[in-house]
Amino acid sequence: MFWDENAQTFRAFQPVTIDNSRLAHPLADETAALDIGANNLVACTTTTGTQLLYEGRDLFERFRETTHEIARLQSKLREGRYSSNRIRHLYRQRTKRRDHAQDALARDLIERLHSEGVSTVYVGALGDVLETSWSVEANAKTHNFWAFGRFVKRLACTAEEYGMAVEARTEAWTSQECPRCGSTTDTVRHQDTLTCSCGFEGHADLTASRTFLLRQLDDTQLRLMAQPVRFEWDDHDWSETSHSHRPKEVRTNPQVASVGR
Ligand SMILES: [Zn+2]
Repeated sequence: MFWDENAQTFRAFQPVTIDNSRLAHPLADETAALDIGANNLVACTTTTGTQLLYEGRDLFERFRETTHEIARLQSKLREGRYSSNRIRHLYRQRTKRRDHAQDALARDLIERLHSEGVSTVYVGALGDVLETSWSVEANAKTHNFWAFGRFVKRLACTAEEYGMAVEARTEAWTSQECPRCGSTTDTVRHQDTLTCSCGFEGHADLTASRTFLLRQLDDTQLRLMAQPVRFEWDDHDWSETSHSHRPKEVRTNPQVASVGR
């Protein structure tokens, strides 16, 4: 510690060792919350006002097609046989394709959040999702498709490289809650859109991730939301879709975004 003559104050220096070259700049204390699903793999809201949406329809559809093909081949197996080279190949291919997309998503997302100064990422536990808002059949398919535990693990490992923490939270499912009036009974979800009798209309998954984020914060003020950025998987990368800047969704009323529950 030493006395700084100019500033008339004591100053202390502390040696800081940064052993990871990926840490290009120090983390700010921003927070992100993720909503996880099948149609939209990840919907994310950050305290910096960023919203990210990773679309999963095509990926999920291909996973389902392969699953059907496996079932078809299994039904044609001669008696006493339980698998074939073709079936084993399809299983491997299906898993490989999903893992590749998941791993790339984890990296793309974490890199973006790191550049936003996010230090903590909250992930809602899927258990609640499965219990309250999905049919049993959809559960099995989604669960199989998502390999949720694997994804969260991958997310946490990737985050660790950047000095960020991933925390799973058991939360009451937030997808039915209106961000404007707080009602959970007057809202209707139709495909990707959540509407409420109070007049609110917004993207259901992005709204859910924002509500989930607010529950993790003591201070319920969020910065004004920017237009959500959407990503599509092309078998190699997650890239921004051309309709990323579609103005209609989420900001029906700009004030809604900046007001807490
Ligand atoms: Zn409402």
